[in-house]
Amino acid sequence: MLPLESSPAELRSLGSAVLDAAVDFLESLGARPAHDPRSFTQDVAITGEAQPLAEVLATALRAAESGVETAGPRYLGYIPAGGLVSSAVAALLTQVLNRYATVADLAPGLVAIEQSVLDWLTTEFALPSTAGGLLTTGGSAATLSAVVAAREHHLGDESRGATLYVSGHTHLCVAKAARVAGLPRDCVRVVPVDDRLRMDPDAAARMIAADRRAGRQPFLLAGTAGTTDTGAVDPLTDLAALARRENLWFHVDGAYGGAFQLTERGRERLAGVELADSIVLDPHKGLFLPYGLGTLLVRDTATLVAAHRHDAPYLQDLGDGTGLPDYADHGVELTREHRGLRLWLPLRLHGVQAFRDALDEKLDLAEHTYRELGAMPGIDVPWHPSLSTVAFRCAAGDTATRAVFDAIRRDGRVFLTSTTIGGRFHIRLCVLSHRTHAEHVDEALAAVRAACSSTAAMTRSPRRLPTP
Ligand SMILES: *Cc1c(COP(=O)(O)O)cnc(C)c1O
Repeated sequence: MLPLESSPAELRSLGSAVLDAAVDFLESLGARPAHDPRSFTQDVAITGEAQPLAEVLATALRAAESGVETAGPRYLGYIPAGGLVSSAVAALLTQVLNRYATVADLAPGLVAIEQSVLDWLTTEFALPSTAGGLLTTGGSAATLSAVVAAREHHLGDESRGATLYVSGHTHLCVAKAARVAGLPRDCVRVVPVDDRLRMDPDAAARMIAADRRAGRQPFLLAGTAGTTDTGAVDPLTDLAALARRENLWFHVDGAYGGAFQLTERGRERLAGVELADSIVLDPHKGLFLPYGLGTLLVRDTATLVAAHRHDAPYLQDLGDGTGLPDYADHGVELTREHRGLRLWLPLRLHGVQAFRDALDEKLDLAEHTYRELGAMPGIDVPWHPSLSTVAFRCAAGDTATRAVFDAIRRDGRVFLTSTTIGGRFHIRLCVLSHRTHAEHVDEALAAVRAACSSTAAMTRSPRRLPTP
């Protein structure tokens, strides 16, 4: 039985056993199936008794095997992450250090580390020196703080008739944030998109004007830098100009696509993002980090503080002398884990160029996927990928596309997901993990080809049953 306060020798053996298990897992990733479709039946209940480490580890690892292998190179569904091990190691160190890094006074060094990560990002996005932000648990939490800051800045306490603008391809987290922020249910306007699934700024302008005439209070325009469906990038420069003209908060959701700002092609495609009042990006997507790290950047840190700062007598000892931010004033959490090291350590250890190169590789792989799918007979690939997501369907229609999708799932080599665009069923493939390379994308293409020929064979075979 391991005591709560373990000896150095016990801790070394605990650490090396866990690290061995982790490295064994990573070694096995290349050969693991993308998906274990069996239902989870293992007994994991707390029994009350202390168990040996080997047994506990085995139970946890077996439990982790069920479901989708999101850490693996063949996970091409939703928005993949990967999970940089250097960041996991930073998380271990962070948790052991267990410093209280929400207020600068208690851990100025670690807050400086967290701030250096935010400063680096605001520089990458060419934001002004007033910019700042917050590391959060993910894009949804970051979006909530952005919407709250926008509401506070433009509406104060008067949120009647508050109206914000999204497109039909905007992530659900924007409407969810508005709802959680207490805005009325009818506050979300859905602006039409063009044939490349990008928000139409002229349509947005007409809707804003009509809403103003009806006495509503437009306050926020949300553009997306990389939609979840297809990776489409809204015309950010035009939307920024519209927001400025109409005195609206301009938010850019780059939870998925924001990381491509690190590449030359990405910067071109995301042009205008530097004009945003707030930007969300998810290091647990495009910077390959393990789940649990999102980022909010704001053009003016004061707007974030105005929306989130609260004082209390029991915090009266805390000073303002460090010149560093108190992250408690930037978001909803007070006690929170220090998140900076999880991004800072990988950036220092691997160097920023390693991230730029990996993201460039993903753009190339998406391009390759687009060309290869386009060359398959009977497959439609309606949109050239703006980033690293390709959506496709069978020219024969939804029934055929669903059959191909089901066959890919049954095959199990790779994990893809589907969506509905313009009322039609589409299969989507998103390349983003640092572990996904050309050979894995080629496996996915082979799985699509195999699925197409097996379903074609099925539909060719006679459906009539022989009469007895
Ligand atoms: C993933 C995603 C989100 C939500 O972020 P979470 O980290 O899952 O909370 C928001 N917007 C886009 C475009 C996304 O892809």
